[in-house]
Amino acid sequence: MKAYSVIIEHIVSSLNRPFFYFHEDDFPLYSRVNITFNNQDIVGFIIDKEEVDDIESFQNQKGIKISYINSLIDQEPLISEEKFCLAKRIASYYFVPLIAVIFSMLPPSLKPSKTALSKAKISYETYVEALPGATYDDLTTRQAEVFYKLSQGPVLKKDLTRSIVTKLLALNKVRLVNKEKNRFHLEKEEYVLHKLNEEQQKAYDEFISTSDKVYLLQGVTGSGKTEIYLYLSQYYLSKGKQVLVLVPEIALSYQMVARFHSVFNKVGVLHSSLSDGERYDVYRDIKKGKYDIVIGTRSAIFAPLDNLGLIIIDEEHSQTYKQEDSLPYYDSRKVAQMILENKEGKILLSSATPSLDSRARALKNIYHHLILKKRVKDIILPKVEIVDLLDYHNINKESIIISLPLRKEIEATLNNNEQVILLVNRRGFASSVSCSKCGEIIKCPDCQIALTYHQETNSLMCHHCGYVQEMISVCPVCHRGKLYKRGFGTERVQNEIKKLFPSSKILRLDSDVSKSKGGIESTLNKFKNHEADILIGTQLVSKGHDFPLVSLVGVVLADISLSLPSFKANEMTFSLLTQTIGRAGRDKEGKAIIQTYLKDNKIIHFAKDQDYESFFIYEMKQRHLLNNPPYSNLISLLFSSSSEEKAEETANRVKNDLLTKVPLDRVTILGPSKLFINKFLNNYRRRLLIQYKDRKDIEPYIESLVRSFSLIRDIKLIVDVDPTSDY
Ligand code: ADP
Ligand code: ZN
Repeated sequence: MKAYSVIIEHIVSSLNRPFFYFHEDDFPLYSRVNITFNNQDIVGFIIDKEEVDDIESFQNQKGIKISYINSLIDQEPLISEEKFCLAKRIASYYFVPLIAVIFSMLPPSLKPSKTALSKAKISYETYVEALPGATYDDLTTRQAEVFYKLSQGPVLKKDLTRSIVTKLLALNKVRLVNKEKNRFHLEKEEYVLHKLNEEQQKAYDEFISTSDKVYLLQGVTGSGKTEIYLYLSQYYLSKGKQVLVLVPEIALSYQMVARFHSVFNKVGVLHSSLSDGERYDVYRDIKKGKYDIVIGTRSAIFAPLDNLGLIIIDEEHSQTYKQEDSLPYYDSRKVAQMILENKEGKILLSSATPSLDSRARALKNIYHHLILKKRVKDIILPKVEIVDLLDYHNINKESIIISLPLRKEIEATLNNNEQVILLVNRRGFASSVSCSKCGEIIKCPDCQIALTYHQETNSLMCHHCGYVQEMISVCPVCHRGKLYKRGFGTERVQNEIKKLFPSSKILRLDSDVSKSKGGIESTLNKFKNHEADILIGTQLVSKGHDFPLVSLVGVVLADISLSLPSFKANEMTFSLLTQTIGRAGRDKEGKAIIQTYLKDNKIIHFAKDQDYESFFIYEMKQRHLLNNPPYSNLISLLFSSSSEEKAEETANRVKNDLLTKVPLDRVTILGPSKLFINKFLNNYRRRLLIQYKDRKDIEPYIESLVRSFSLIRDIKLIVDVDPTSDY
């Protein structure tokens, strides 16, 4: 008899342990089984097994009752031993149940859960095939035509006229066959590798010849970073190793994927807008060893590759690498390091505007720093103009959003039959409060981040530390200006543009558009084909395709992202502006206009000058002042309850409790603060933010906290390790 340790499908911390189930047969580890748990039929996942001779004494020794596995679901392991060990490390680092990590490693139809069992796996397509020996007798001309086509080879049923197929079937001329559908295929683009230039070659050689683990490739846009990826991939493939490439958003990396496809034969692509069946196909093919290179978005980090030589993370500063909408809240950059820890294999982080974290590590030689300063082609950077929205000369009587200078430039560009991109960065509903005279954004006195206006309570709130004050009407700095609440989005800008330029064709690209499958790609393609004159959108317009006809880029209000209630607001703004400006004038000189109420803001000027290093030095000082990352680490504890008092009270109790346990000279606990969206799915939320240096100082307390909370019914705790946003 075999005793199996099985974890169950429920993602609950109190059930986050193995349960014993018996069976006579030998089942593979890391496969799914049907079991009965608490009188319910559910799915379990085998994580260990042992031979048991005397069941009775085994039970007594473990203090358990005998339960048997009902049946086995998978004939072979779903994941490797190595991936299982990785899952355990992720679970403990992010304080989440192991089963939650296993869930995120697998395509939907393979997840160990009851509901996944009915999901699509392999999908079939029906073909029509001519029966051997069948003749043209009794066929009409049209039927004969179709039959002739079929005699050359099977044809997809859906490509033929249904009535003719029915007739041919009735006459016994053809039969139907089901073939496994190969759902994923990509267009190829001819691409010939260039000979690396001196700078590229130096970076490549340094990567190959040194023995560091993590490299930061900091190269301005157009410096040929992709070319280096291709060469490095070639090198690792020739060594018999696999390569994984992560990109922020597949539709925005279309060109890169195409280049990989034409240089290498077999490239697997994994991303979230694939259907369940498609994901299953790609996952299975990777597991079978069909691909040596896999390109994908965040969760592709879990692709079943166990012989990785190289992980490339493109646009490494991108927020999308951190999962923040469902458990586990992992960061694929962190997971990449876990995968290759104590193993051969290297990581290449790459960006024109690296995250502060990565740049700081490169500075301390934790990461090996590689730099590309020159653009491969002489792309001329656009002239950047900052338009002061407080200056009445710039005021456009017909629009409060589009200033006179921006309007004039749009007009001129359209007259030249060239294209315009307008960036409207409205993430979330963030609206801030600023002064109409001096432009000051009202900030938290403790954290120096923008306060958020709450209509419900008519107050201003800091989402970082919980500071609250009553809404004020006069600027506290200049004492002259009235305070304005800000907040508008892409749609409103679209309306204004339509009014100002009634004959122009406009496309919009934001999260509403991107939700539809292929939405981003088709919008970008239309714009590229000059089916529209103006593209209005969120940060999605700042990257991706090169648009040769774009000669004007407008940032409608740079202040929006500066006022995001996050300690990363400056960092996000800098990279956003820098990248957006880079969209204008790739082949000839273009122009960029940044509209702002903060014409002297340092971040805007660093971006205008495309000066990453000065930005870095400035921002590091800000972070140091407030002991924010990279000078500290953060963990967020989010309490939610249907009762607001309960959420508040619990957060306070936990805080007070932690204060007696952790070393207060090394750990700071901020909060409890309300969240930007205070009431979410009928739950009130409060947040504690822990700033710490050494994980040992807090780890055991958080572990026991998580365990104790899973037993409480009316309050939920969500732990977010290394949160990237704080609202
Ligand atoms: P990045 O990813 O750094 O923004 P790309 O890799 O897209 O830059 O390179 C920009 C352009 O330069 C591409 O069209 C690419 O084909 C071309 N390119 C890259 N390396 C070379 C090279 N060594 N010689 C000539 N052209 C190159
Ligand atoms: Zn604050």
